[in-house]
Amino acid sequence: MAVTPRPAQDGGAARTPFIAGNWKMNLDHLQAIAFVQKLAWSLRDAGHDFAAVEVAVFPPFTDLRSVQTLVAADKLELAYGAQDLSAHDSGAYTGEISGAFLAALDARYVIIGHSERRQYHGETDEVVAAKTAAAIKHGIVPVVCVGETAEDLEQHGPSAVPVAQLRGALAHLSSPADLVIAYEPVWAIGSGQAATPEQAQQVCAALRAELGSLLGADVAAATRILYGGSVKSGNIAGFLRQPDVDGALVGGASLDVAEFSSIARYQKHVGV
Ligand code: PEP
Repeated sequence: MAVTPRPAQDGGAARTPFIAGNWKMNLDHLQAIAFVQKLAWSLRDAGHDFAAVEVAVFPPFTDLRSVQTLVAADKLELAYGAQDLSAHDSGAYTGEISGAFLAALDARYVIIGHSERRQYHGETDEVVAAKTAAAIKHGIVPVVCVGETAEDLEQHGPSAVPVAQLRGALAHLSSPADLVIAYEPVWAIGSGQAATPEQAQQVCAALRAELGSLLGADVAAATRILYGGSVKSGNIAGFLRQPDVDGALVGGASLDVAEFSSIARYQKHVGV
């Protein structure tokens, strides 16, 4: 079946489905080159239409220059981004990477506020807000991650924590911006226990409603909201059937070329 930007509603923008692979701290720059070549061949051989489903990889910082060179030299349609950035532009911030450096590498996206950064690096909503503003300032689209832990779910229900995190992340934004939001329940990340499509839809709809209150109906209609957490080729189609889920942020399964390419090709191998 031919697809698809998600249909425009109320005169708003259509949303192109987006499959994003978060490699986390895996694959060095040589492995990255081999991986991206194989992924590009796999998608090309399958006749993938990147205008119908956008595909991006998020390698470690040290891989980005190699990925940029390969994508530019071979004119690949794959997008790429970083897994984090500094809230600062430059200066005495040892170990940090400026959004300006990522922009110089033509990174289209940057993941911000992944639960592993919140958990292991103490990133608060304030830090996430500053990083989101920095990405936008440098012309990089932030992929802002929100999601509740199992305890949050028990204590506050499904949407309260992700919606509060979204509000926090967008605290410095007062005008429309190009954003991607990733709803990633912490209990589903790397656990093999994905949310159900209905659970994902419920929270993604609440996030879209919150975007509407914060930044207006046009931004809410145009912003892609992804689900992440134990996504595989066998469950992706169920998520993409939901009206407010526009794609997936994929962790473990993004490290397997055949599996990730199959997730990106969900429209072809499963009836949607
Ligand atoms: C992630 O880390 O963003 C993620 C969704 O991981 P996984 O797909 O492995 O659950």
